[in-house]
Amino acid sequence: MKIQFLGTAAAEGFPGSFCNCEYCQNVRNLGEKYYRTRCQSIIDGKILIDMPADTYFHFLKYGIRGDQIKTVIFTHTHADHFYPNELDMRGAGYGKNMEVQKLNLLIPKDATERINGLYKHTKDIMNVVVAEPYKTVKFGDYEITPLKARHGYGVIHANIYLIKKGDKAFLYGHDTGYFYDEVFDYLKDNNVYLSGLTLDCCYASLPISDEGGHMGYPNVERVLNRLEELGVIDGNTKRVINHFSHNVNPVQEVIEKESKHLNCIVAYDGMTLEI
Ligand SMILES: [Zn+2]
Ligand SMILES: [Zn+2]
Ligand SMILES: [Zn+2]
Repeated sequence: MKIQFLGTAAAEGFPGSFCNCEYCQNVRNLGEKYYRTRCQSIIDGKILIDMPADTYFHFLKYGIRGDQIKTVIFTHTHADHFYPNELDMRGAGYGKNMEVQKLNLLIPKDATERINGLYKHTKDIMNVVVAEPYKTVKFGDYEITPLKARHGYGVIHANIYLIKKGDKAFLYGHDTGYFYDEVFDYLKDNNVYLSGLTLDCCYASLPISDEGGHMGYPNVERVLNRLEELGVIDGNTKRVINHFSHNVNPVQEVIEKESKHLNCIVAYDGMTLEI
């Protein structure tokens, strides 16, 4: 399984779209290499996870052919993950000669209304499945299981996702606070072994409670320790931290230095991970 991290920032981006704080000023001077766009990933060039407004730019920058994407998974409806109107550019005069006609969509319950509001021609070529936590959905070779995210900020149905293909399993853990007990229980009871995972680290060194909707280094460390105790991950599991806020000065080298004790790979825009 090949995971590419297309965007690795929190909602505002880094630099923030309207921000002039010292960190954002600094990163503007450092230049494009250090920029972080809104959170999005793609698996094997076929499964797109979330669609922020930056999706079109990501397709151009990383040479992604939208017409080859078979499945789009939405974690939740915050704008930095959910700009479904881009899907209206498929079919009927907008998207021609597409390799994949029927697109699978896995959406949280709150997304239903916005998806129903898309053009009819868009919906006609989509297979929409509403995600039920802990109920596995099969799309081709991939088994995808929504797990409940502890997120909030006005969103009721937010999911993180367990994605399996053959003997490989990957956990996509954005946006969430410290995992619910039922998530740990699910992973343990189903004997899940993760070859890789990516965890929310929006707050990095800033304090954030378990209910805060995101995580920082201490929360991430506790999630990793508990998963290790349960045998869900081990020394061979590739661990990534991602989804950084401008408030933490997420310059790559800064986060790498601060998070050394976690033994995690610090995601950056365009990074690929093979598991
Ligand atoms: Zn987010
Ligand atoms: Zn800023
Ligand atoms: Zn969010």
